[in-house]
Amino acid sequence: LAGPTPFPGTVHETPGGGILVSAMDDVINWARSNSLWPLTFGTSCCAIEMMSAYSAKYDWSRFGFEVARASPRQADVIIIAGTIVNKMAPVLKRLYDQMADPKYVVAMGACATSGGPFFYNTYSVVKGADHVIPVDVYVAGCPPRPEALIHALMTLQVKIKAGMTREQIRDEMKTT
Ligand code: SF4
Repeated sequence: LAGPTPFPGTVHETPGGGILVSAMDDVINWARSNSLWPLTFGTSCCAIEMMSAYSAKYDWSRFGFEVARASPRQADVIIIAGTIVNKMAPVLKRLYDQMADPKYVVAMGACATSGGPFFYNTYSVVKGADHVIPVDVYVAGCPPRPEALIHALMTLQVKIKAGMTREQIRDEMKTT
């Protein structure tokens, strides 16, 4: 264990090698942050950029987001990519409720954040996912590029690794 280690904690050098000293919570947070499995909720054009983020060119698996899941039972973070219409809102809520804790929510793009181009003069579009479920990270753009989505996920990863609660993450995101 000599040299830099990806684990949180301190490596103490001994004559026979190194000993890693860390709190169990730090190890759990480290492991959790490096295995965030996304539940994809692509409803319109932003979903194309999300698909690009997990395809070969951008390959978000490199950073620990690994495989996108179609089941909320197997997912840690839901990515809302696209417009949410009123009829879809109860489905989004149900999927969110079916995810096990700890769980996180990313609103990708203007529509998921605020209704986007459908903010005015529409009877059918939800004016942001946070009217339905709590959102932890917002990604700006119409649509955001894959790099922006990966940056959002990696930002979330850093905060989970630091042991922050969802409430702390949301509070901090509001001010950054
Ligand atoms: Fe489409 Fe723009 Fe809405 Fe994304 S934010 S779903 S690109 S209209």
